[in-house]
Amino acid sequence: MENQNHDFTRTPHDVVIVGAGLAGLFCALKLAPRPVTVISAAPLGRGASTAWAQGGIAAAVAETDSAEAHAADTIAAGAGLVDATVALGLAREAAARIEDLLRYGVPFDRDLEGRLAVGREAAHSARRIVHVRGDMAGQAILSALIEAVRATPSIRVIEGYAAEGLLTEDGAVAGLRLRRAGDDTAAPLAIASRAVVLATGGIGHLYAVTTNPAEAGGLGLAIAARAGAIIADPEFVQFHPTAIMVGRDPAPLATEALRGEGATLINGRGERFMPARHGLAELAPRDIVARGVFAEIAAGRGAFLDARAALGAHFAEKFPTVYASCVAAGIDPAQQPIPVAPAAHYHMGGIAVDDRGRSSIGGLWAGGEVSSTGAHGANRLASNSLLEAVVFAARIADDIDGCGIAAPARAPTTPSGLRNSAMPALSVASLRKMMTSQVGVIREGEQLAEAVRCFAATERDAGNVALRNMATTALLVAASAWTRRESRGAHYRLDYPAEKPSLAYRTVTTLAAAHEVAASLCERATARIALPMIA
Ligand SMILES: Cc1cc2nc3c(=O)[nH]c(=O)nc-3n(C[C@H](O)[C@H](O)[C@H](O)COP(=O)(O)OP(=O)(O)OC[C@H]3O[C@@H](n4cnc5c(N)ncnc54)[C@H](O)[C@@H]3O)c2cc1C
Repeated sequence: MENQNHDFTRTPHDVVIVGAGLAGLFCALKLAPRPVTVISAAPLGRGASTAWAQGGIAAAVAETDSAEAHAADTIAAGAGLVDATVALGLAREAAARIEDLLRYGVPFDRDLEGRLAVGREAAHSARRIVHVRGDMAGQAILSALIEAVRATPSIRVIEGYAAEGLLTEDGAVAGLRLRRAGDDTAAPLAIASRAVVLATGGIGHLYAVTTNPAEAGGLGLAIAARAGAIIADPEFVQFHPTAIMVGRDPAPLATEALRGEGATLINGRGERFMPARHGLAELAPRDIVARGVFAEIAAGRGAFLDARAALGAHFAEKFPTVYASCVAAGIDPAQQPIPVAPAAHYHMGGIAVDDRGRSSIGGLWAGGEVSSTGAHGANRLASNSLLEAVVFAARIADDIDGCGIAAPARAPTTPSGLRNSAMPALSVASLRKMMTSQVGVIREGEQLAEAVRCFAATERDAGNVALRNMATTALLVAASAWTRRESRGAHYRLDYPAEKPSLAYRTVTTLAAAHEVAASLCERATARIALPMIA
């Protein structure tokens, strides 16, 4: 493990991976014995959504299942925007990547005959979720990978540093700007590398109600966008319908697998409300269930997940993580319905990448949730994200190995003139609140326009780099949500409630384009209001 006092900025690095979740660590292991530096804002094992995954990994490994059926379900969930080739590629490579994970020591559950045990999740037409000890998949996967990384001498890990900017030369990556995480006024450092892999996870923490860790604030997406990278589908944010509402930030999750096992959604009057909304009731696509839960809460009836009949006394043994979250909040889920609400959970959009994980900037790859491969379209199929992370991390490693990266020409100079103020807690809270209330489960034109203007002003004027990066990503999400005048998948517009066949294409955008949207919306509003900025 890297001695944190060593001056890691002096020597140029071969490959730098930012992020130590599934995508980052798997890519580092696949690159071994090639020297790799992994940078993680949080200590290994913390600050990664991977550790919290409860369902597992979708993989058509059962005899009765097929990659074609898996791809068809993925395409159906994605509301017309899934790239069919990417979906089929993911499904076909799943079994090989599960084998890799088994080799790295992940103890996937097996059935009595010793075959991989597979569970069912919403919108999957077959039982195909490979899991570990019920709902412990994420933690088990991450622990096994961390152990494998620690046993791999070619991987050095730098913990406690956050990437806050990309360095480029002649339009290609030349390195990264970093700062000690949690120390806003520390001097920024530069690290040189011609090959950078961003694996920084999602954007959930831009929302006030989320299941994601604090590190999932969209910073990786922002630094790529600020360097000019093409961004795809940023408006598509998946809200998990059943975050457990017990006053915790982030909110603990009641996994979809609970509904797979027969738990139902009821309101405060004890009535099931999903059968009236969709033929699959509680197993309908996530966006439909999220809007159902949202509507009950908005109508003042509340929403609860009721596992009393389906699981009862078996709850603790089958879903230990959810059980522990409930019990800690004084709820016994074997005997009481669990209060739930929709929470920002997964970002389908991200840094646009090709089938090798390459972004539009030379020397920059992106893998895992920070990327947008086209696999998820407008709505991710449950348990496809861990799969995408391993499939693309492996492809990125192959691509880097095959592309002969030139060593950095010179050691980086220490960045100058980058003063940073302390992160203003109030501004962060306001941004997150605005994302939840105006760029959330249900969106509307004027509210989106206000959010766009506000995030653009914050991005322009913020004295803190992390806040500016949060505002960059928030702006990209809000501007694309404003531009897409239809409802599709996870993106629902109250003022355009129907899906429009003429808009059945992915969003491809840049930060410059988002700035143009903001400028035109500001012009429209100038007569009426002073520019708002998050205070
Ligand atoms: C509660 C929960 C349950 C889920 N359940 C499932 C499931 O069952 N199946 C499924 O397929 N998917 C699930 N998902 C989604 C899935 O877990 C994530 O999409 C996936 O783990 C993302 O992996 P990743 O490696 O891209 O990012 P992460 O695992 O989030 O890792 C990101 C890493 O980047 C680091 N980082 C972030 N920003 C910076 C920076 N600026 N500088 C340095 N480091 C940085 C973080 O500290 C972290 O190490 C779930 C998500 C959540 C939140």
